[in-house]
Amino acid sequence: MVSRVIPVDVFDLVIFGATGDLARRKILPGLYRRFTAGQMPGDSRIIGAARAELTDAAFREQVRAALTEFVTKDRLEESAIEGFLARLLYVPIDATGTSGWSTLQGLMRDRVVRAFYFSVAPSLFGDIAQRLSEHGIANAQSRIVVEKPFGRDLASAKALNAVLARHFAEAQIYRIDHYLGKETVQNLMAVRFANILFEPLWKAEYVDHVQITVAETVGVNGRGAYYDTSGAMRDMVQNHMMQLLCLIAMEPPYHFDPDAVRDEKLKVIRALKPVQPQDIVRGQYGAGGGDPGYVIHAENPASKTESYIALKVGISNWRWQGVPFYLRTGKRLRARTSEIAITFKQPPHAIFDDASGWHENVLVIRLQPNEGMNLMVMIKEPGPGGMRLMQVPLDMSFADALGEVAEDVPDAYERLIMDVIRGNQTLFMRGDEVEAAWAWTDPIIQGWEGRGDRPQAYDPGSSGPEDALMLMHRDGRRWREIRE
Ligand code: NAP
Repeated sequence: MVSRVIPVDVFDLVIFGATGDLARRKILPGLYRRFTAGQMPGDSRIIGAARAELTDAAFREQVRAALTEFVTKDRLEESAIEGFLARLLYVPIDATGTSGWSTLQGLMRDRVVRAFYFSVAPSLFGDIAQRLSEHGIANAQSRIVVEKPFGRDLASAKALNAVLARHFAEAQIYRIDHYLGKETVQNLMAVRFANILFEPLWKAEYVDHVQITVAETVGVNGRGAYYDTSGAMRDMVQNHMMQLLCLIAMEPPYHFDPDAVRDEKLKVIRALKPVQPQDIVRGQYGAGGGDPGYVIHAENPASKTESYIALKVGISNWRWQGVPFYLRTGKRLRARTSEIAITFKQPPHAIFDDASGWHENVLVIRLQPNEGMNLMVMIKEPGPGGMRLMQVPLDMSFADALGEVAEDVPDAYERLIMDVIRGNQTLFMRGDEVEAAWAWTDPIIQGWEGRGDRPQAYDPGSSGPEDALMLMHRDGRRWREIRE
């Protein structure tokens, strides 16, 4: 099987914040890989911008260092690196200042796609949007890409949307959530909507519950002071986990079209029930295993910010009536894993006796590591001695099934940047989606802030706080084990 590379138009991509961490680790290495895959056609260019006074040559050297650090050795080849670096330019610009903008304007070309990646703090979005528009650098066909965090509550998200809307139409704004760029996440839609097998079972009648887990082994480390103003709810649940939940819970869109998909996701967010205090468990990791603990990194001994959260969430619609969605995410946990597990109900009538070893069917969608899907089904244990059942996985792991093609799959950032160039917004959050997500999140956060709740301590390297186990135990269910 040969991997298909879908052509894109010639483009100029301007990266604001091109010397920053995200650009070095993700955006530029991703673009290099797309270059080597033949997706920087013609004389497509990347123009870096930041305040540092760099020449084109000095910027290229910085990018070379970033590629050496963040691209795997087998993809690094001197002629390809040289070819890629030759496509790079640099313009010193202060987002809040006046110089540099006319130089950038002079570099812009007609008849190529113009895209602007705002890889800077959100407080600069308004300044950049305004200057791009005032200097005629962006035109009506241009696209802008903005990074998370998209607001820290409904009011700030609305303000950001309003600032961007002053200069750009919604169809030009690409709000990146890299979770949506993951192969498995998209495959979730393929599995749901391109097969007849799953969709009839995808509802309250047959689904017992859904678990969504995003577990990290890393702590907050150098980002502690920033993270302390955010916490797991804002950092992970409001965006990434909400998006995953939407893709599982949404109705089939009438077509695989950006607005049709996003309309259906929005309906799910609007149908989310308010979460009651007894359905929320917040945790904060303590000291242990060589880690001085969250509060030390956060430089805030009295911090009440959660580095872990588990929630039981309900959806108020026909399809999901009574089906709990259990969400959990945290830092410094036992293993790094992200997965969605859909647990199906028992068959309506049991013909095998209790000792047969029956287990539920579970569809596990793994986002990392080893992207893929597993469907746990019951079969008869081989051999004589009566009807004993055993659970076996129907493994749909991509690496095994697709071989080399899977190895060549672009990472989330690469795919999403190419979608920007193609003008496809399907995997980007629309402004109303982001606002609806905050409208659900705000009262939850305000609730625990108003009550003065403190997060429960948990040990680094554990599965999270004890109370999180109870969240499921009291419903007669269990979390899946956190393991790689
Ligand atoms: P960073 O390492 O602090 O880099 C910031 C970049 O912005 C630098 O290139 C900096 O260069 C430039 N910059 C700062 N002030 C500027 C100004 N006034 N005018 C023009 N350029 C300016 O930040 P980052 O980690 O790359 O993050 C960038 C954005 O992505 C942030 O919104 C962050 O929340 C988001 N994000 C980052 C990650 C990640 O993994 N790093 C993940 C998700 C989202 P100069 O100082 O030379 O101007």
